[in-house]
Amino acid sequence: MTDTPTTPTPPTTPTTPTRVALVTGASRGIGRAIAQRLAADGRHVVLVARSRGPLDELKAEIEQSGGAATALAVDVGDRAALAAAIDAVAKDLGRLDILVNNAGITRDGLILRMTDQQWDEVIAVNLTSAFAACRAAARPMMKHRFGRIVNIASTSGVVGNAGQANYAAAKAGLIGLTRTLARELGSKGVTANVVAPGFVETDMTSGLPEEVGQTVLKAMSVPRLGTPQDIAAAVAYATSDEAGFLTGQVICVDGGLTMC
Ligand code: NAP
Repeated sequence: MTDTPTTPTPPTTPTTPTRVALVTGASRGIGRAIAQRLAADGRHVVLVARSRGPLDELKAEIEQSGGAATALAVDVGDRAALAAAIDAVAKDLGRLDILVNNAGITRDGLILRMTDQQWDEVIAVNLTSAFAACRAAARPMMKHRFGRIVNIASTSGVVGNAGQANYAAAKAGLIGLTRTLARELGSKGVTANVVAPGFVETDMTSGLPEEVGQTVLKAMSVPRLGTPQDIAAAVAYATSDEAGFLTGQVICVDGGLTMC
């Protein structure tokens, strides 16, 4: 009797699905760099901001480089619209693995002159939007027992900054929100971390007097201002599959400004 030759079965390796990453404030600055980096790392990136034109341009750029992207024009200050967009992404793409709440604005002024409107706008866009997005994203993340949430705060939220009571309060609020999510969701495979940039050259800082940048530079250990790519690199790690043991952290990417 002869043995019947059998075709060897190739070893099966578990495949990781393409991760879907939603980035708010992706039309320019730090959010754009985060989206570019996550796309280069193989994520399907969902680009969110109010301006449709820059989002479509970035989507085309990512696709030309062989990546995948979806552009959604949403005002994150409208929490119902933001939650609906997140629900639609999870349904249409089948999952939502990574959420980066990056959209942010400043309405600076010393406390005696700060108006209710300046306060309310900054809290709505910088903090309430992140709450709404995290709440909407938690369910699909828990369902797949995988999730990476990164909230972009600021060193102003860690150490305060004169003229930014509204902004610093919103950013400090993000830290409390994030650490609570880390405690609530860690057992479900979902991590939550804060990345807190120092002074980064973008549209947000371009209007500041040059002395501000020079003063900050003097207090830093690394003698240069930050780039959006510096921040994107930290987000790329915190949202990676291998960062499953990193949660509830505030990662200050600030050239040693605060050493927080
Ligand atoms: P930026 O250049 O002014 O970009 C802000 C982004 O947020 C844009 O894409 C903008 O897009 C979006 N955005 C603003 N309001 C929005 C809204 N209501 N709905 C949807 N999207 C909105 O700012 P950046 O410097 O890149 O800052 C990004 C994040 O980093 C912010 O959270 C900021 O607080 C934080 N940060 C920045 C620095 C810095 O030095 N630059 C330092 C610390 C922290 P549209 O205008 O198209 O909506």
